[in-house]
Amino acid sequence: MIEPWDLTTTNLGRLADQHFEVAVLPTGAIEAHNRHLPEGQDFLHTTHVARTSCRLAWERCPSVICLPTIPYGVDCNLLDFPLTIHVSQAALDALVRDIILSLRAHGIRKVVILNGHGGNCFTALVRQIQCDTDVHVFTVNWWTVGRDRYDSVFESPDDHAGEMETSVALALYPDLVELASAGSGRPKPFRFEALRRGWARTSRRFARLNDHCACGDPSRASAEKGRRYLDLVCGRIGDFLAELAGQTIDSQFPHG
Ligand SMILES: [Zn+2]
Repeated sequence: MIEPWDLTTTNLGRLADQHFEVAVLPTGAIEAHNRHLPEGQDFLHTTHVARTSCRLAWERCPSVICLPTIPYGVDCNLLDFPLTIHVSQAALDALVRDIILSLRAHGIRKVVILNGHGGNCFTALVRQIQCDTDVHVFTVNWWTVGRDRYDSVFESPDDHAGEMETSVALALYPDLVELASAGSGRPKPFRFEALRRGWARTSRRFARLNDHCACGDPSRASAEKGRRYLDLVCGRIGDFLAELAGQTIDSQFPHG
């Protein structure tokens, strides 16, 4: 089906008459997610969140375009698991930068990077782009959008392939979930209190957490929880995109 907000399906005939204020660039990863979730988990759920949010925004302000999801992410710390694919942050930044410059050449000056993988970090890139160009770039890690309501939906925290990610997968693509083969998701704790408390941080080699590349218990996941969280998150992101599309870039944007 041709969707006017979807760059993959729209066409030159439609684009010729259309002005876009906001572009949404989803970013994912291809990596192990416990034993029961697809390698494409971050690619698949992020694509869904981006598409749903753009569709919702379009209904209120038809000037939002959804780009195809970048499938690969920063995954060097998960390479111990078969066929996890890693691209460096520098390579990813170069790609994202070129995409943003292409969008600018087409007159789009508001870009939202909708990120679905914790290993990707665009903070420095965004700072640099906004110093180098007149494009305004925003980043959203979609899984954090409903954090204030997380406890009203889920019973246990999720870091990687736990209750939240499994619930989202059950809601969106249950045929790709093999829950019977899931490991516990229990990680080996850090030996240092500072790391356990979180005020000292490091990058974790996931093979040292457990043998199934997971950090979070998937056993209480359900499609219904996944749907509730996705509705919350997509609604909020859709509202933000519509609001962003409706605002003029003036000298104080995005403040005041
Ligand atoms: Zn994930």
